[in-house]
Amino acid sequence: SVARVHRAVEGQGHTADGVHIELLANVADAGSAKAAAAAGAEGVGLFRTEFLFLGRPEEPSVAEQTRAYHAVLDAFAGRKVVVRTLDAGADKPLPFLTTDGEPNPALGVRGLRTAVAHPDVLERQLEAIAAAAASADAQVWVMAPMVATPDEADRFVDRCAAHGLTRAGVMVEVPAAALQSRWLLDRATFASLGTNDLTQYAMAADRELGALAELSTSWQPAVLRLVAATCDGAHIAELTVPEGRSRPVGVCGEAAGDPALAPVLVGLGVTSLSMAPAALGDVAAVLATTSMDRCRQLARLALASRDAWAARRAVRAALPELD
Ligand code: PEP
Ligand code: MG
Repeated sequence: SVARVHRAVEGQGHTADGVHIELLANVADAGSAKAAAAAGAEGVGLFRTEFLFLGRPEEPSVAEQTRAYHAVLDAFAGRKVVVRTLDAGADKPLPFLTTDGEPNPALGVRGLRTAVAHPDVLERQLEAIAAAAASADAQVWVMAPMVATPDEADRFVDRCAAHGLTRAGVMVEVPAAALQSRWLLDRATFASLGTNDLTQYAMAADRELGALAELSTSWQPAVLRLVAATCDGAHIAELTVPEGRSRPVGVCGEAAGDPALAPVLVGLGVTSLSMAPAALGDVAAVLATTSMDRCRQLARLALASRDAWAARRAVRAALPELD
């Protein structure tokens, strides 16, 4: 693959040999966005917009949405902000959008799937995101949650394009999407791994159940294989789309903020990590002392492991500076 060696720039995440890894923040509103900017995030890798909608009997108006999105974009002028469209359903029900009483809500009509019965809600949200983007300086990227098939990805890209939003991507949090990333990224321009849900679905273990915590960890080699498959598919997509169109893959689940797992994810081919702002310093520090070759070596160690426990132990033994 092409070496991406850049001069390390102050305030940017980079490996020991100077490969830029974007260190981004997960935010939910203007307050958390300002705090993330103050903590040194290079941008926002996951703006969870559903918090504006939760606990309300009706959808917020386009004007109210526009104001809320604009306030987040304002905190990151000149920088990248990845806005995730509404991720409702399962543990986040909305009276005007989701269905009660599904037998398996985590496998039900959630995330982008709600747009089939309610395309109008997504339309109004994209209208508000586009309006906010037009009056702010941030580089706005938009992504959909819970995408499973290339058709879903293509339809989302079309809806975004209709609003002038050209950087449209997909979250990869369903194993099928990880395995088919080459086709999801035919038209979608980036992918972001939601490792919380990807782990839940790969391990068939409810992420909310403490009793299943041993299963529900992204250190599971099976989950890391899905991360690798996503990056491999993105690379194939890059080779087949017009020149100059990259297909970057990031991680925005909890895994990105684990200082031992972060270099593994980079070694698997991930180029941005989005996390709670409190984790930025530790992740930046470990990457700055770990070369790209060493990240790849750590990734091989983790992938070759028998289980999550062995993967974590092997990687931590190879990263003594973390102890
Ligand atoms: C994820 O699933 O990893 C993710 C980032 O989305 P959320 O935690 O909001 O489901
Ligand atoms: Mg998710």
